[in-house]
This record gives sequence, structure tokens and C-alpha cells, in this order.
Amino acid sequence: MRGTGIATTSLIVHGGAGIFRTDLQDLVREGCIRAAELGQGLLLGGASALDVVERVVMALEDNPTFNSGTGSCANAQGEVEMDAIIVDGARGDFGAVAAIRHVKNPVRVARAVMEHTPHCMLMGRGASSFALERGFESTPTEELLGERGSGPDHGTVGAVALDAQGHVAAATSTGGTRDKLPGRVGDSPIIGCGAIAEDGLGGASATGDGEALMRVMMAGAVAGYLRAGRNAQEAADLALQDLKTRTGGLGGVICLDASGRIGFAHSTTHLALAYTHDRAEVVSRL
Ligand code: ASP
Repeated sequence: MRGTGIATTSLIVHGGAGIFRTDLQDLVREGCIRAAELGQGLLLGGASALDVVERVVMALEDNPTFNSGTGSCANAQGEVEMDAIIVDGARGDFGAVAAIRHVKNPVRVARAVMEHTPHCMLMGRGASSFALERGFESTPTEELLGERGSGPDHGTVGAVALDAQGHVAAATSTGGTRDKLPGRVGDSPIIGCGAIAEDGLGGASATGDGEALMRVMMAGAVAGYLRAGRNAQEAADLALQDLKTRTGGLGGVICLDASGRIGFAHSTTHLALAYTHDRAEVVSRL
């Protein structure tokens, strides 16, 4: 353990904020636990926080219970347009895609934007063409919509990790809001809104009403409170208070501080999440 820290590695994942139908709650809980266990194993094996948040979010994207990747909800034209971001606290860099179509794992494309372009964000047709050029398989809309035809419009996914080297990373991925206008982009892929990560400070991933979360720059609000010396739970509570008082919006946020302490807060009925430190058993909450 580092001198002042409570944990060498920490991980928190979420599966969205909203009201989860009773018949889906076990699947949601299970999905978050499995994703956290996957990430914990990787962290204990020495993986970087960046690799861990990417892999954990990919696992959640592949799980049709969640509104991201497979299982995304449809927009007003029946299309799936997804948003994702990955933030690397070690490099102080991020990659994002917005309103991307026909890819199975938007978070992987977001990472490719960060690592293989001079840009931070690609959107729409440009993002989809970039994915094809990088060799990502084209996935039909019907496959992304999953068995239910169109997933619920909550169930965005996210993860924040601290690795054994002290690096922090965060990622968020979503199908957005059901019946949204084509081209609508929410908070999720926007740096400081849907996610943030900074070595020596911490990281956050937000979920909920994207328009409200953008107005308060939710993940950045958490980072601001961390910078002011608050711990992770205080920072999450204060940022949520901002969301409630300034917008009345419904949402939630998960975060870690640089010592690996965990925080989360939500104004929705549910915030699906799971977390763990080092070798501790994964704790889940819905
Ligand atoms: N924040 C996402 C969006 O507005 C949706 C969600 O997290 O439920 O696109």
C-alpha cells in the first residue's frame, strides 16, 4: 500500500442511473459484479488503469442488459448512435466518439482516436468511417439493438480505475437517450462532463440526464471538489448537489480519489454499481 493511500488498486464501475425494472435488476447487478471482477483480476495482474477501464467497459458494452454497444436504445429514426470516451490520467489525454453507428465497442474506437489520430473526438459519419478504416467490424443496427429490439434508455456504463503504478483512468459508453433526435450527443463523450481522470487527483464517470449533466460539467465538478481537498465521497455528494440545485436533473456519478477511495451519488432511484479495492470481494449496489 502507498503511504497515504487506502488501497494500491481500486476500481468502480457503473451500469447507469434511473429506475431499473424489477425483472432486470438481477441481470444489472450481475453484469456490474462480473465487470468489476474482470477489472480486479486485470489490476491484480499488473494491467494499467487505461487497459482496465477499456476492457471493463467493453464487457459491459457486450452485455445487452446495458444501454451501450449491444443493447443500445434507438433514436427517433430507429438508428443506434452511440457516444463513448476514454480518459488516460497518465498521459493527460482522452479519446471520444459521438453519434457513432455500426460499431460493437465504441470505447475501443475512442481509444483508437486518442492513440492513432491527432484529434480527441470524432463524430457521426467521420467516426464510423474511421472505425472501419482501423479494421473495426461493421455491426448492423439490428444486432446493436439486441433481442429486446431497443434497450431501455438508462443503463449507460462507466468505469474508473487506479492501478498499482498510481495511474488513474476513466471511461463511459452509452446508446444515449431513447428516441433522441438523430445527431443528439449527450454528456458521455464530452471531457469533464461524462468522464475525467487525472493522475494524482482521481477520476469520475457520470450517467443520467445528459443535458443536465453537461450544464454542470458533472465529472469536472467532481474533479474540482477533489482538487479543493475533498475526498471521493464528499466530491460526489457536492457535485450531485450542484446537479440538483442548478438543473433539477436526474443523474449519478461514480469516482475515485488519488488514494483509491471510492465515491458515488445519485438523484435517481437507482445507480447500478460495483466496486473493489485490491483483493477485496466486489461490493455491488443498485
Ligand atoms: N448520460 C447519457 C446521455 O444523456 C444517458 C445515461 O447516462 O443514462 O446520453
